[in-house]
Amino acid sequence: QVVNYAPFTLLPSAVPSALFEQAYAVQQDFNLLVDAISQNKEFLEHSLASTIKVDDFTAQLFRIHMQVLEEGLAQSVFLGINRSDYMFDCGVDGTPALKQIEINTIAASFGGLTSRTAAVHGRVLKVLGKSEEASRLLPNNPSKGLALGIAKAWELYGSQSAVVMFLVEEVQRNIFDQRCVENELWNRNIRVIRKRFRDVFEKGSLDDAKRLYMDGQEVAVVYYREGYVPKNYDQQNWEARLLLERSRAVKCPDIATQLAGTKKVQQELSRPGMLERLLPGRAEAVARIRATFAGLYSLDMGEEGDKIAATAIADPDRFVLKPQREGGGNNLYGEELRQVLEKIRDSPERTSYILMDKIKPQPAINYLLRAHSPLQVSECISELGIFGVYVRQGQEMVMNTAAGHLLRTKAIEHADGGVAAGVAVLDTPYLV
Ligand code: ADP
Ligand code: MG
Repeated sequence: QVVNYAPFTLLPSAVPSALFEQAYAVQQDFNLLVDAISQNKEFLEHSLASTIKVDDFTAQLFRIHMQVLEEGLAQSVFLGINRSDYMFDCGVDGTPALKQIEINTIAASFGGLTSRTAAVHGRVLKVLGKSEEASRLLPNNPSKGLALGIAKAWELYGSQSAVVMFLVEEVQRNIFDQRCVENELWNRNIRVIRKRFRDVFEKGSLDDAKRLYMDGQEVAVVYYREGYVPKNYDQQNWEARLLLERSRAVKCPDIATQLAGTKKVQQELSRPGMLERLLPGRAEAVARIRATFAGLYSLDMGEEGDKIAATAIADPDRFVLKPQREGGGNNLYGEELRQVLEKIRDSPERTSYILMDKIKPQPAINYLLRAHSPLQVSECISELGIFGVYVRQGQEMVMNTAAGHLLRTKAIEHADGGVAAGVAVLDTPYLV
């Protein structure tokens, strides 16, 4: 009743190797893009202008972002850990294409647990007498890659006695995933503490140079595994967040990078010319990034929004309606999409959402193993995530890597939701 195994598929799932390679090849470009957005005040301001009028959570994040900029950034080392998620869209001729679902720029999880899944699936295949297939499963260790990024940021912060602070939830459901990353840091003689917003509110402080202290210990890096949904915050937690953001400590992510991962920003990026403006002189990176974009549409008030709202109401199965929320289970599909959109189509409330083309992968058969759930064969679809890690010191990129992958698989009857939402399970790609 205290500890369960993480859910997983019985068998690895087939993934087209060309798309797998494409996802790895574009990750450094996405790292550069997220980093560029986080430094572009005008772009963030412009992209989120309509959203923050109607979405209180994004507005509050944005207020802290502006306040910290006005005071002047104390932080000079920046660490990004993100995960870009994709599905394999099945075209009319049956050819699958890599299409991005979203990029997670805060608390991107399962890098730890997924470092173990290849071994699990390798064993299953051997039990089934498939040792040749087992030997073809790729090694994968994102927890090490994530830790190398944190370690680099810690080193550049430049205080041997300072610690890394994992900022964790009130109720800790995914602690073992985090421990995998933590262990890698201890192995490199870097001290790690685990704290909640509440602890920061009670015991956190800044000195004159805006160094962050917890209980008298200097903090070099704050790694957020919390703070991405409204329910993570009450008044005190917002104050704690502001304190962290004002500090010199390396925040992973800083608040600007969190905003760069909003769905509204994702939609604005798909406008013609936008990537070129954010990544000047990088035509090849822009082309690789754009190739992964599905159709994304603004619901801002005006003709463009009116038109796409009408199209979606007429043909809801073509689209997904997404609010500015993370963590799974928030999007709207089909008949529900139609009803909600019909209700808000003439109200500014609609601008808190974006519309996206629905991606339609080819289903495959698998068993989903979940503690206390009956075993049944399911028609499934998979979502591939690539972990990106980068470190910037001032204007210089000192690390920019793809740190591993995550495959999550769910039964097709669930339109939405990840592993934490209880819908998807951990999987391993079997390249074909
Ligand atoms: P969240 O921030 O809640 O994870 P996502 O954009 O990742 O939001 O959407 C949650 C889930 O919904 C995804 O994991 C995927 O299963 C499904 N989903 C999201 N966008 C699409 C899409 N365009 N087409 C098909 N399924 C989608
Ligand atoms: Mg997601």
